[in-house]
Amino acid sequence: MAKSTFEYVKNFEVDDTLLPNTWIVVRLDGKCFHKFSDDHNFAKPNDIRALKLMNYAAFTILREFNDVLMAFGQSDEYSFIFKKQTTLHKRRSAKLLTTMTSKFTSSYVYHWEKFFENDLLKYPPAFDGRVVLYPSDENLIDYMKWRQADVHINNLYNTSFWTLIQKGKLSPSQAEKRLCGTVSADKNEILFQEFGINYNNEPEIFKRGTLLMRQNMLFNNKAKNIIVDIHDDMLKDKFWKQHSSLLSLKQKEINLYNGPTTDIIS
Ligand code: ATP
Ligand code: ATP
Ligand code: MG
Ligand code: MG
Ligand code: MG
Ligand code: MG
Repeated sequence: MAKSTFEYVKNFEVDDTLLPNTWIVVRLDGKCFHKFSDDHNFAKPNDIRALKLMNYAAFTILREFNDVLMAFGQSDEYSFIFKKQTTLHKRRSAKLLTTMTSKFTSSYVYHWEKFFENDLLKYPPAFDGRVVLYPSDENLIDYMKWRQADVHINNLYNTSFWTLIQKGKLSPSQAEKRLCGTVSADKNEILFQEFGINYNNEPEIFKRGTLLMRQNMLFNNKAKNIIVDIHDDMLKDKFWKQHSSLLSLKQKEINLYNGPTTDIIS
């Protein structure tokens, strides 16, 4: 086909191919979800419907894109970790980021009613996203630990803050003052001494977020690749030893993983 005289404009596009042999992480985060959660009457500090919807939207991504190895979610954010050798969209950054972001957002909206039932969606939410590359397994593991440590810090604070308001009848600014300068042990102590709440007994999904990963399981002697949601402690090295095969997949094993998926998600 003859080229049009206008086609030179294509040359203005810049190459955004991501470095080969590195871990690609795409992290999405809800835009102004402080307000969005208020507008949609999320239970504070943790609305389980909202967390399940986030998990489900992420699950639809793992189900559709075999090149996504695993995903970790908490609050209004989700991180997607691609298989190291992925060639999806020729590793073009903008293509990967925009496909993940729009697919996640449309799934979030599409599946809203499954989780919120009669609480209608009042306006379309938005998610922003970024791509980060991690060259070593250690960097990637530290990334996962960083996000899970963030859940812990925020959830302990939020649980204390909202307990002081909901059960202690403090105003938000009084609760904030009360927690100012406290360390983790102090917050645990306030919860336990004043409200009889043992923070350790809070639901794992609130304390640790959700990791979605693929697992090969036998069903009636047939190997099936399923997506599971777990809330394990990734800060412990024991976790990464137990799942050592997760990050060290050879190409042959990657192909094995491209089998059909079964929906197992709570
Ligand atoms: P930005 O656009 O900069 O990300 P933001 O308002 O979304 O602003 P975040 O730091 O991302 O700020 O925080 C997300 C906020 O959304 C939380 O602080 C919390 O108020 C609310 N939120 C998210 N998920 C839930 C949930 N499952 N239950 C209750 N509140 C939630
Ligand atoms: P890719 O994912 O690579 O973009 P694609 O199938 O979306 O693949 P495009 O080159 O973007 O390929 O072409 C979009 C196609 O969608 C068109 O070729 C046409 O078949 C269909 N399409 C889009 N808009 C309309 C429309 N308004 N009416 C009918 N068909 C449409
Ligand atoms: Mg943000
Ligand atoms: Mg946000
Ligand atoms: Mg956030
Ligand atoms: Mg198209």
